Amino acid sequence: MHLNAEVTRVEHGQLLCANGAVVSADEIMWVTQAGGAPWLRNTGLALNAGGFVLVNDQLQTLTDPNIFAAGDIAAMPNYPLEKAGVFAVRMGLPLAGNLRRSVQGRTLHTYQPQSNWLALISTGNRYANTTLKHGAPENSSYSASLNLHRASKTPVSANSRNRHLTPAP
Ligand SMILES: Cc1cc2nc3c(=O)[nH]c(=O)nc-3n(C[C@H](O)[C@H](O)[C@H](O)COP(=O)(O)OP(=O)(O)OC[C@H]3O[C@@H](n4cnc5c(N)ncnc54)[C@H](O)[C@@H]3O)c2cc1C
Repeated sequence: MHLNAEVTRVEHGQLLCANGAVVSADEIMWVTQAGGAPWLRNTGLALNAGGFVLVNDQLQTLTDPNIFAAGDIAAMPNYPLEKAGVFAVRMGLPLAGNLRRSVQGRTLHTYQPQSNWLALISTGNRYANTTLKHGAPENSSYSASLNLHRASKTPVSANSRNRHLTPAP
């Protein structure tokens, strides 16, 4: 673990840090937090710190109730969701319904994201690592990580050293 190590340059097989440290690695994965598109800053819509459009539980922007946002572009203060397709897809129907209700002058429905979801990362042709998430990301009560075997589509045996259950950080 390298704390306070701001990476300033990437070279083949090594990272160069602002503090002069050089970190060698066989593989380098550059993983950053998602950010809102720059053009959103010129829309006049209220954005959160990450640059995403703030919406209420009816998916209306906080700035203008006639403008709606859903999916990755939206940020719900009551539900700080990860940017994942599972949420973007599930917002589709509530969004369509509320757009219709809005133009008809009807009461909008409240969208409540699911509290459990599955995150999968492929680790090769036949394996994936999965995390079962519960509750809002910032206060998930519990998560479980285990490797899945693609051929059997079932978790590897409980005795396998690949399988482990961990409390959420
Ligand atoms: C590499 C990668 C891997 C991912 N893997 C997974 C995964 O395994 N599982 C999972 O659940 N999620 C995954 N995600 C996240 C998932 O792709 C997103 O959460 C999901 O696509 C969001 O859907 P969306 O419709 O909100 O936005 P998008 O899919 O980003 O669609 C937005 C659309 O708007 C268009 N657009 C942008 N700006 C403008 C503009 N100014 N005018 C008009 N159109 C515009 C874009 O071209 C795009 O077509 C992954 C994301 C990435 C980047």
